[in-house]
Amino acid sequence: MWLTTLGCAKNQVDSDKVTGVLHAAGYEDAASPETADVVMVNTCAFIEPARRESVDAVLELADTKRTDAKLVVLGCMAQRYEQELIEALPEADAVIGLDRYPELVSRLDQLTEWQPLQIRPLQKSAMDILYETRRPTPATPYAYVKVAEGCDKLCTFCAIPQFRGKQRSRSRENIVAEVAGLVESGVREIVLVAQDLAAYGRDVGDKGGLRTLIDEVAAVPGLRWLRLYYLYPGEVRRPLIELMADTPTVANYFDLSLQHSSHRLLRAMKRPGSGHGHMELIHSIRTAAPDAALRSSFIVGFPGETEDDVESLAGFLESAQLDWVGLFPYSAEEGTPAADYDGQLAHDEIMERMRHLQAIQDDITQSRNASQMGRRVDVLVDQVEDGQAVGRSYRQAPEIDGVILLDRGLPGEWLRAEVRGAFGTDLEAKVIS
Ligand code: SF4
Repeated sequence: MWLTTLGCAKNQVDSDKVTGVLHAAGYEDAASPETADVVMVNTCAFIEPARRESVDAVLELADTKRTDAKLVVLGCMAQRYEQELIEALPEADAVIGLDRYPELVSRLDQLTEWQPLQIRPLQKSAMDILYETRRPTPATPYAYVKVAEGCDKLCTFCAIPQFRGKQRSRSRENIVAEVAGLVESGVREIVLVAQDLAAYGRDVGDKGGLRTLIDEVAAVPGLRWLRLYYLYPGEVRRPLIELMADTPTVANYFDLSLQHSSHRLLRAMKRPGSGHGHMELIHSIRTAAPDAALRSSFIVGFPGETEDDVESLAGFLESAQLDWVGLFPYSAEEGTPAADYDGQLAHDEIMERMRHLQAIQDDITQSRNASQMGRRVDVLVDQVEDGQAVGRSYRQAPEIDGVILLDRGLPGEWLRAEVRGAFGTDLEAKVIS
């Protein structure tokens, strides 16, 4: 089998779980798509560019695979557009959405006409696959752990609740057991993910919610860093901020999804806050954790966004001085309220605004990076590439932020280093112990 994964960290976890289920059923990893009997793409359906990338990946694998090999489309696009994909992609032998994952093994057996020697265990529910499946040992010293599926929020631009459903939280015991297993297998950093992480446990009446989960996961012996993604700003209040700031294992890193600074637009997005409110949140974080690294995502070109709104967002970025920012061009998503709003902007106009704001943020990110010069930091080595040790400090999340190039180090090593150089989003550091 061969599995290509697209989209977010949550999709990466799904791929690990699917791999775990198929390994348990006797399927083995192929060295390349050309040698695999089954090639699969775990697709993303969040916005138009992601969907295009998913279809391109399917078509590319259709060309690359052996003619007798089977091509299977998985993930959010398969969940959201099953029928459309079956009609539009004759190259695909099967389109299996998230709700159909319990059938995955039997479908692949049918496709490959493979008669398993042993009796197949009873099929698990889609959520049980998420809960119970032991995932393969990650190739990196960090791993994502998905603590819940779905989302109960109603952001007017977002289609995710349509295909990922209502929030369903895993039990704390189940999550802590998975984390312990990953740490046992050599993982040193855990990144907790969910569509709406800060609302963890609410759907199952778990009063302690995310804070109790942090306490229990952070206490797993051998874990060095616990990082949190996708914190909905309206849910980030003093108790959570102080817990994150005061728990040594929690990376001093706040990933907020502020989305915009215009009060009017945030109301239209059904999102909390305003530019002023966001600044107060950032201030309370920096008061509790002065060295905290801050990341946020923003949507550019939401219907009705004026030039003044763009300039107010530019001014907000200047004032907020965030370490890392993800700017996303608004994409009218089928079935979302915002898709029918007046004031839809032309794509070229949106991309022009993206370029303007990106240039401003690039300068901020680089100056925040340069301010690390001379600092002594703990670094987790992720990999050695062409003899170059590459790692990250608490300020850099895996795969989305910059990295630190070290003069030495092995994957999984935890080293103390002094920052000696800064270039763009990356740093250079000399190991001191
Ligand atoms: S919080 Fe909003 S943007 Fe995030 S997944 Fe839920 S509905 Fe979508």
